[in-house]
Amino acid sequence: MVRNPADYRTLLWTFVLTPGLLIFLYFRPDLVVYLWPLSCYFALSCGIVAHNHNHTPTFKSKGANQFFGTWISLFYGYPTFAWIPTHNLNHHKLVNKAGDATITWRFTNRHNALVAITYFFVSSYYQSEPIKTFIRKAKEKNPKLYRQIISQYVIVYGTHALLFGLAVALHGFKTGGLLWLLAAGIPGFFALWTIMLFNYEQHVHADPFSRHNHSRNFEGKLLNFLLFNNGLHTAHHENAGTHWADLPKVHAELRPHIDPRLIHRSVWWYWFQQYVLAMFIPKLGTTQVGRPGFEPPDTDTVDTRTDEVELGEAGSNAAMV
Ligand SMILES: [Zn+2]
Repeated sequence: MVRNPADYRTLLWTFVLTPGLLIFLYFRPDLVVYLWPLSCYFALSCGIVAHNHNHTPTFKSKGANQFFGTWISLFYGYPTFAWIPTHNLNHHKLVNKAGDATITWRFTNRHNALVAITYFFVSSYYQSEPIKTFIRKAKEKNPKLYRQIISQYVIVYGTHALLFGLAVALHGFKTGGLLWLLAAGIPGFFALWTIMLFNYEQHVHADPFSRHNHSRNFEGKLLNFLLFNNGLHTAHHENAGTHWADLPKVHAELRPHIDPRLIHRSVWWYWFQQYVLAMFIPKLGTTQVGRPGFEPPDTDTVDTRTDEVELGEAGSNAAMV
């Protein structure tokens, strides 16, 4: 059924634990104030799974892949097609160079808590352009894709409207509204915000023009278990088709070639060091490794055409459309 046996864990997370917790909370709304952080984690894990699924489809069957992409999008709260114009066709091609809608250095290359926290809003604003262009092109040239995009919007937001309605019908406006907010609404927002925060951390002060120093890595075992090896970002960028379960092996091969400043053990210690300690002792913060994205070497030809997202490539992506 799945192309890689490691994805049976993906199925456990996305078809049992994530919806199971949601259903449980709809029966026990009194527990939502204690368990909502867990809902946030599972929503985030669905977002990470969507990222992986988008690069390497989980199932053998195309229909199952389409269904799965839509299913997990219900939990992280955004239509699944959006990965194509913003991530696959933009971020992976430009990797934090000019033209990447998700550049970490848009207004400043300084790395502090304010820039990290607000990165989601800046990045979302600039990602809306390639998304709008992609939808416009689909409308003009590929009616089937366009219908799929519209139906994804209807399914995601329609399901959340139904979940809200169900919560209110079961438990009244006050308790039901709070239940939806803590069990579904906030987790969805948290997932999107955190995915973008990771994108920021994984590229801030790295060198997009370098062979191996374009990304920051987090090697913690627990983090990589919980987030499906998402901490090993150099390996992911160098071969985006590598299955998430194989990333530790690829990372071990690449590790000697990566600047040690771009390899961290614990993301929590990194955050504490960067956003708390570095306020008092600046040298504990990250420094630019190699060239920043806005200083291309003379030989580099930077493609800044953010709006040139081609439907052909997207159409070949079995998982999403
Ligand atoms: Zn990726």
